[in-house]
Amino acid sequence: MLPVPQLEDLGPLDGRSVLVRVDFNVPLAGGGPGAVAEIADDLRMRAALPTLRWLQKQGATVTACTHLGRPQDSADPRFSVEPVRRRLAELAPDAKLLENLRFDAGETADDPAFVDRLVEGHDAYVNDAFGASHRAHASIVGPPRRLPSAAGRLLAREVEVLGGLRESPRRPFVAVLGGAKVSDKLGVIDALLETVDSLVIGGAMCFTFLKAQGHSVGASLCEDSMVERCRELLEGETPIHLPYDLTALGPGGVPGDPGAGGDVRQIGANVGDGWMGVDIGPGSAAAFGDVIHEAGTVLWNGPMGVFEDPRFGGGTGAVAAAMAETRAFTVVGGGDSAAAARRFGVDRDMDHVSTGGGASLELIEKGDLPGLAALRGASNAT
Ligand code: AMP
Repeated sequence: MLPVPQLEDLGPLDGRSVLVRVDFNVPLAGGGPGAVAEIADDLRMRAALPTLRWLQKQGATVTACTHLGRPQDSADPRFSVEPVRRRLAELAPDAKLLENLRFDAGETADDPAFVDRLVEGHDAYVNDAFGASHRAHASIVGPPRRLPSAAGRLLAREVEVLGGLRESPRRPFVAVLGGAKVSDKLGVIDALLETVDSLVIGGAMCFTFLKAQGHSVGASLCEDSMVERCRELLEGETPIHLPYDLTALGPGGVPGDPGAGGDVRQIGANVGDGWMGVDIGPGSAAAFGDVIHEAGTVLWNGPMGVFEDPRFGGGTGAVAAAMAETRAFTVVGGGDSAAAARRFGVDRDMDHVSTGGGASLELIEKGDLPGLAALRGASNAT
């Protein structure tokens, strides 16, 4: 992977003003009429602290900027960064935080006039917003055209780990994929099939593959338009492991709502009419665990079942436990799998938990991101 400029490449920073694009798009709770929203999880903020503190230690004045939620290109008090600002004052006193970047339509449009306003008064730019670096938004790709620029520590580590997976993984390299849709992950599946030694597939997306193998899928989530593509992938050279047993929910049941009832059964790889496959079964969970234990590197993205419902968390929990126990180099690819790793208390046992969902998949798929390419185009980049 092509290198990006590092913080050290910014030169002396004493008395300088540095604009830092962070990803403080944190979950908020308890807002609403008359109530003050609080930060439900400040992990993304803490992840940027090494960069903010390093810059401050060099004598720089730090101004952070972030998007928060999806306001529609105008100021909306529900998406004000005020709660984030309060928390930042505790974590990194003296660091300033600009108001939500997406209050201005110029952010998503990469408007040069907005970039001008953003960089005004600053001497250097740092991108530490890995989770937003797959978007060619003004605050990501604009400042490197105007200011000496560098990757922050968090971004640099993501690039090192995820880029390393593409280039020199310790083998066998296994990717464990789950989650809702095959179509969302087809690009990354294609790219992974070029590098991994085997692919393990669970989650709702396994049903499109199971159907391609001739199994019945009942009322499980299945993308019929992708069945043919899955059949081709299964015929390729790289082994693809699919579940051979499942946890299924009977007619009338609602995944995510135990109160709605519905029978829950352990079944084989065929799902009956009206039944829905909602998790991999215990046999498959153990078999997937074996593959993880024998690997040199494991990349995990996407839950194995509807893990938000305690009835259907077994498969995801087993994969999380195997990830924690294996001697392999373990990487969790952001989004729902990072939430699952936290839920099952194994996030600290991983070698790397990515802070970006979409960004981590795009970096693995394409080997580059708009935000990284922009940094390489900065005047100080070698
Ligand atoms: P993604 O965002 O694509 O990683 O999908 C994550 C979501 O997939 C989670 O909310 C899971 O509840 C859901 N999911 C995983 N397995 C299944 C399944 N068998 N049926 C329905 N939804 C599932």
